[in-house]
Amino acid sequence: MAEIIDGKAIAAELRGRVAAVVAARTAGGERAPGLATVLVGDDPASHVYVASKHRACAEAGIRSVHHELAADVTQGELVELVRGLDADPEVDSILVQLPLPAGLDRDAVLVEISPAKDVDGLTAANAGLLAQGRIGLAEALELEPERPPLGLIACTPAGVVELLVRSGIELEGAEAVIVGRSNLVGRPLASLLLGANATVTTCHSRTRALPNVCARADILVAAVGQPQMVKADWIKRGATVIDVGMNRTDDGLVGDVDYGAVAAVAGAITPVPGGVGPMTIAMLLANTVRASAALASR
Ligand code: NAP
Repeated sequence: MAEIIDGKAIAAELRGRVAAVVAARTAGGERAPGLATVLVGDDPASHVYVASKHRACAEAGIRSVHHELAADVTQGELVELVRGLDADPEVDSILVQLPLPAGLDRDAVLVEISPAKDVDGLTAANAGLLAQGRIGLAEALELEPERPPLGLIACTPAGVVELLVRSGIELEGAEAVIVGRSNLVGRPLASLLLGANATVTTCHSRTRALPNVCARADILVAAVGQPQMVKADWIKRGATVIDVGMNRTDDGLVGDVDYGAVAAVAGAITPVPGGVGPMTIAMLLANTVRASAALASR
């Protein structure tokens, strides 16, 4: 049976480190880092995610403010709100919860966020620095680097590499296969793993013979959004399997991996819930601390 990678425990440890950094800074007279979240519409899952992000901020001593807008808000109103947050010196980082309701242009909103406050790493500047290898593993892992980081890295991929590194999984030279190429998960994770000297294959809905490609993987990451799609006979014995998927089904929350069967073949595996999800929240806190240090140093 596979070793279970305990994302809850690894995230709790990171959150503890974040809280210690915030406590030390505020004891030294600095103001606490501040996160602003924006949620548009009434998607129940998004409400749950945002509420847990605010709880985690409070526990770590991070200030957080929340803005909720109705699904019929205009593009102009949403842009105006985000512009205001970007200009607010009390706000170190901004998270616009995705997906936005139909009819709103997400790229036209994200462009209003300064890269320094882009806690999701979604602006062209941050994504470009990562794609060019100018930021990478070090920036994803170090909480208090000697110099403020050049850019911020998307929380979920950063959380995935933290899980791999903390679990002692060798990245250098490993065959890594990522299923999914979204800007939020698959693409930035491919850049991170490439920067860590893995040999990376990124798969998507048009990939041919997907099970055969997955079977090459020493590290397989599923970030698809299809319940239990990845089957046991896609897995190389002993491989590490990271399940990013979060699918709400009649049987509750399930990942993209057929967990029970795959755990019998894999060497290590993340559960859902309790794997990548908690890491995303912990990384959001870590990125807010990094963003506030970078802004304070200006
Ligand atoms: P997304 O933007 O919908 O992207 C899904 C990707 O999967 C796309 O690249 C798509 O290919 C690919 N895909 C879809 N069906 C496929 C198939 N049958 N075979 C191969 N590839 C297929 O989703 P996302 O935002 O990356 O999220 C992916 C999953 O992770 C979702 O379940 C989401 O809820 C979850 N998630 C979890 C966390 C967390 O904290 N745990 C954070 C973010 C997302 P094309 O590009 O060709 O369409």
